[in-house]
Amino acid sequence: MTRDIHHFLNGKTTVGTSGQFGDVYNPNTGAVQARVQFATTDEVARAVADAKTAQVKWAAMNPQRRARVLMTYKSLVEAEMDSLAELLSSEHGKVVADSKGDLIRGLEVIEFACGVPHLLKGEYTESAGTGIDVYSMRQPLGVVAGISPFNFPAMIPMWFMGMALATGNAMILKPSEKDPSVPVRLAELMVEAGLPEGVLQIVHGDKTAVDALLHNDDIKAVSFVGSSNIAHYIAQTCAQQGKRFQAMGGAKNHGIIMPDADMDQVVTDFLGAAFGSAGERCMALPVAVPVGQDTADEFVGRIKEEAAKLRVGISTDADAHYGPVVSAAHRASIEKWIQTGIDEGADLLLDGRGFELQGHEKGFFIGPTLFDNVKPSMTAYQEEIFGPVLQVVRADSLDEAAHLPSEHQYGNGVAIFTRNGLAAREFASKVQVGMVGINVPIPVPVAYHSFGGWKRSAFTDTNQYGTDGIRFFTKIKTVTQRWPTGDIGDQAFVIPTMN
Ligand code: NAD
Repeated sequence: MTRDIHHFLNGKTTVGTSGQFGDVYNPNTGAVQARVQFATTDEVARAVADAKTAQVKWAAMNPQRRARVLMTYKSLVEAEMDSLAELLSSEHGKVVADSKGDLIRGLEVIEFACGVPHLLKGEYTESAGTGIDVYSMRQPLGVVAGISPFNFPAMIPMWFMGMALATGNAMILKPSEKDPSVPVRLAELMVEAGLPEGVLQIVHGDKTAVDALLHNDDIKAVSFVGSSNIAHYIAQTCAQQGKRFQAMGGAKNHGIIMPDADMDQVVTDFLGAAFGSAGERCMALPVAVPVGQDTADEFVGRIKEEAAKLRVGISTDADAHYGPVVSAAHRASIEKWIQTGIDEGADLLLDGRGFELQGHEKGFFIGPTLFDNVKPSMTAYQEEIFGPVLQVVRADSLDEAAHLPSEHQYGNGVAIFTRNGLAAREFASKVQVGMVGINVPIPVPVAYHSFGGWKRSAFTDTNQYGTDGIRFFTKIKTVTQRWPTGDIGDQAFVIPTMN
């Protein structure tokens, strides 16, 4: 009997009625380990209606009390860290230590959200006119939706929940159907921490469930993270429906290696950032751009030698550098891109295709793959591969190197490795990318800044979490007040001004 993963509604596990399911694999073995239920449009509508009722009381609770629920929640997640990380790895495939990182980066946003009483404070102007004061306040939107991708099944749901719940909203979370178990457990723990039932609802599903959220009038905002085409679709549909949205998309991040870079650091950083989590990170570093032929030759020689030594293993292998990719279909897509790279004329130096792990021959493994002499005209360079594939694009100057990320369709993250502060400063100022690392390979901003790319990496003008998260999940109300003094002024038929 296959285990079923159910919706989590009104504080309880809720068995769905659609008869539609998605397979959840164990990527280490290739076996189907569970089925996840897919919600119908009616089921989504009921989940939203119940959340709408529950939200009223939650919003009325003072922000300090809401924050205390999140404080308790953080302790509960920490207490379950080991079992949550193992559950996450068993569905995603990333190694357990990396799954803990996934959980901890999410908890850092919860920690930031614990400061919500301060973050929600409005503005006040005394005597903006004679006897007139003006003040503003931030109020929750109502019921909002979060739609998350497979690659961070703990962190990204917590980005959404932390900011949306702290600000007094109810949230419908539609997690990735590929690894849905951790989001469910995270929601159960939120109720254990004191969140009223119905304020956080989990509906599983595919396009049907997503469309049901996008077309539901009671959903006031949608926060989405996933691939760019779907992100664009979410953005367009939300705009048509008059909903607020933030829709983060795919990526192809470049790491520029200057001749004066610390090559030991560069090689170490690229190994982790290009191959960690099997390259399934939107802030992975799959493109290396060495500047000058000497830099390129040294980098390529050293990364080839070190990448070939990486240990690919099952998620629970404490010595493994990375585990399997999420599905057989995704592995096939990565292998197809490797073939495209060869067909387009790049030099394949390490080929991870056909990698078999002894004892786990049916697992979705793929070995480290390295290309040299990749050109900007190649589609294998232009598109996101999202696997353990590092492409080297050689450049003759910093100017030529800097144009690559700036002109790429994606603009999520970029890194420059150099000892020259002036060059780094100029680069950071001019590059057309949302998040920049200077000798930092994965520049994911800490929770009290905010996360967001440019171009096709994000269809939005507010970033995830940080003060942008507070802005996204609240609407501002501005009050202009005057109290009667008994002095009745003239009737006014023209708009009042400060003249
Ligand atoms: P995906 O776009 O396939 O799925 C994301 C979500 O959209 C899932 O919940 C899925 O069920 C839903 N979905 C899938 N098809 C849909 C459709 N036709 N209509 C409506 N909804 C649909 O993405 P994924 O494969 O789960 O995640 C990997 C992608 O996410 C990569 O492109 C990666 O770069 C990107 N990503 C981006 C960021 C970022 O912040 N920019 C962070 C993490 C991942």
